[in-house]
Amino acid sequence: MKLDKYNEKRNFFKTREPKGKVVKDKKRRFCLQHHWARKEHFDLRLEYQGVMLSFTVPKGLSYNPVDKRLAIKVEDHPLSYRHFEGVIPEGEYGAGVVMLWDRGTYEDLGNFKNDLKKGVLKFKLKGKRVKGNWSLVRIDKCNWLIIKDKDKYVNYCNLNKYKRSIKSNRTKMEIKKNT
Ligand code: MN
Repeated sequence: MKLDKYNEKRNFFKTREPKGKVVKDKKRRFCLQHHWARKEHFDLRLEYQGVMLSFTVPKGLSYNPVDKRLAIKVEDHPLSYRHFEGVIPEGEYGAGVVMLWDRGTYEDLGNFKNDLKKGVLKFKLKGKRVKGNWSLVRIDKCNWLIIKDKDKYVNYCNLNKYKRSIKSNRTKMEIKKNT
């Protein structure tokens, strides 16, 4: 099953992250989570064929097309993970605070089915903070680059300014204190 790797890494008696089940749904949703694990990073998740395709983006996204940000392809996550915000307990996989940082839908501007094999995904994000056309380009096995494509959102804003959850408006510390 597609989410075996996700489930194997987690002890659901200890973490409040959702258990992985594949759900079939036509809508294409995405989310970005700000995750303070051993190393701080963002996780970009794109709904595709009943799971969330997942990429760890150490520096987060940038509206500047010159910034080609590394995006590491990681295991597929369950659809319900797109709602997750909270604390992953110490000793568990990815231990630390997870903030839901942006969410919305996206449009596949090519054909993910073929493009995943080719290693070039083109899509339009319709989030609250992240908008417009983006590309993910594979550079080797698991390493991709996420790049802002030319459109009206080039240099739209500096995404570092968003320090609060899109879901709860909480800061990292507020999430940590009351999960
Ligand atoms: Mn993560």
